Amino acid sequence: MTTVGDVIEVLERAYPLELAESWDSIGLECGDRAARVDSVLIAVDPTEATVAEAIARGVQLLVTHHPLLLRGVHSVAFDTPKGRLLHKLIQSGIALYSAHTNADSATGGVNDALAATLGLTVTGPLIPKADGGQGLGRIGVLPAPETLAAFVSRVANRLPETAWGVRGLGDPDRLITRVAVMGGSGDSALENAVSAGVDVYVTADLRHHPALDHSVGGIARGIEVPALVDVAHWASEWPFCAATANVISAGIAGSLKTHVSTVCTDPWTISAFKTEVAQ
Ligand SMILES: [Zn+2]
Repeated sequence: MTTVGDVIEVLERAYPLELAESWDSIGLECGDRAARVDSVLIAVDPTEATVAEAIARGVQLLVTHHPLLLRGVHSVAFDTPKGRLLHKLIQSGIALYSAHTNADSATGGVNDALAATLGLTVTGPLIPKADGGQGLGRIGVLPAPETLAAFVSRVANRLPETAWGVRGLGDPDRLITRVAVMGGSGDSALENAVSAGVDVYVTADLRHHPALDHSVGGIARGIEVPALVDVAHWASEWPFCAATANVISAGIAGSLKTHVSTVCTDPWTISAFKTEVAQ
């Protein structure tokens, strides 16, 4: 018999807790470590949709990248959004476990999965940890140089589709070989990408001013700064789900089933481009 605790042990070997950032809140959020597990669902976000999927699939454990309870919680009453989810999970006998910034840094975690999905051979972390261990983000190389325009298409084709789409900043003909990636919100690492001298930096949630300052700053400093590719936060972290399914399957002997959620939990669901010419 496999228990929730057995799966947690496997997950924490792959994504050690000590790799988590100090502000993070990770681990078991509800459920009993001694409870039996026959099947697991892995998703980026614990939301109404993924909890409904967990219930529909009859799993006993939902593993997510983002924690449900990251900030202070004073009530889990059913009429609060998070309390409602926790009630549904507990009533359905489903444990919830999250592997967040520990999975960002760990070898084989969020960033290695993103790099592999884009077809990169990883050469090292974008922000190494002081002790020389794993770190945040990854730098990798493409099998052969390609233009930025082709690279933006590569990213769009290899990640799951979202309404947000994929946006690029830079000369479309620029040749790309070395790539930095950071799953999730990565504008705080723009300067690390510049220092690393990569050709392009792929991340999510890039805001107007940091992106503009990066681009204009390169001209002012007389240096060729990395091109930027901005994807939906959910899409950048979704490769974590399959990687985690593999970690669990490899670490648990027996017939435990793993499911990767394909429910898109990106909050943006509609996009439009101007089609009418102003009169
Ligand atoms: Zn994230």
